[in-house]
Amino acid sequence: SLLLLVACSNNQDRAGQEQTDQKLMENKDTTYVGFALDTLREDRWYQDKEAFEKEVTNLGGKVKTLAANGSHEVQLEQVKLLLNEGVDVLVIVPTDATKAAEAVELANEANVPVVSYDRLVLNANVDYYISFDNEKVGELQAQAIVDRIAEGNVAYIGGAESDNNAKMLREGSMRVLEPFIESGDIQLVYDQFTEGWSPETAQEQLSTYLEGANQPLNGIIAANDGTAGGAIEAIGNQAGNMPVSGQDAELEALQRIVNGTQAITVYKPIDTIAKQAASLAMNIHKEEDISTDTTINNESKDIPTILLEPTLINQDNIDEEIIENEVYTEEEIYQ
Ligand code: BGC
Repeated sequence: SLLLLVACSNNQDRAGQEQTDQKLMENKDTTYVGFALDTLREDRWYQDKEAFEKEVTNLGGKVKTLAANGSHEVQLEQVKLLLNEGVDVLVIVPTDATKAAEAVELANEANVPVVSYDRLVLNANVDYYISFDNEKVGELQAQAIVDRIAEGNVAYIGGAESDNNAKMLREGSMRVLEPFIESGDIQLVYDQFTEGWSPETAQEQLSTYLEGANQPLNGIIAANDGTAGGAIEAIGNQAGNMPVSGQDAELEALQRIVNGTQAITVYKPIDTIAKQAASLAMNIHKEEDISTDTTINNESKDIPTILLEPTLINQDNIDEEIIENEVYTEEEIYQ
């Protein structure tokens, strides 16, 4: 990469220079992609990793994936490592939308283009963003709950506040709830984010609410399947008596949908985002034309964005959408 050579010829970064030399000797034609994941906690991220690595390899590139176990500090170190190894493109799922700007700056300094994957890095010079339409996910979740209860008390269980997706999901859900709240049909009696998207934290926080002299619940909008699982634990023998939403079409959530303790999940085909992100990364490095759907402002600039469509899953379409599409088998889901 010419840019990298120019940058390093300033002699600002001797380690970078050595790495570049090393890379040029290895094989200057192979695109090397760094994939920095926040976590492998939710099943989906394993699928992202597998599918992304497979597609980069298919396209003739080389890839290294590192997962930060939910720690911003670890993620920053991992990004440094990838940059020192001479990656040509950095694809990042930020642990913390705001703090990850530091990692992006390092990539900018090394002239390494950055793709924000699934989650947007805020206030940073990101080159592209690829995700599912998170506001749409939030709308689908809230609409499903409203459709089932029409009136009553609703709890909103958000994701991690440090994840921009959690905010967009909440925005989408609130847009749907607003007219019902205004008319007095629905009361939002509980509304909390969940640090690190932790199912245990979601459970603890909701249990604390339920143990207090608080209003009973009629429906729960949980931002993903993990937090939905926590909420369902918290309501105990009330599970099945009130609709609960989720997201990710995790196997456990699909099992809860068929047994009636979770009303819906939102399916996001991971293969699609992973494949598109892989070819995006390869095309950026090869400086090929890239077409995007829209732009999203990340508080620094308008980022060219690819937004994929999420699908609502409930008892009525689970067979068609999940089993027929071979996401999971009938045996796995109907136990
Ligand atoms: C993703 C969800 C995931 C959550 C927790 C979000 O940014 O969009 O699919 O469940 O993070 O990892």
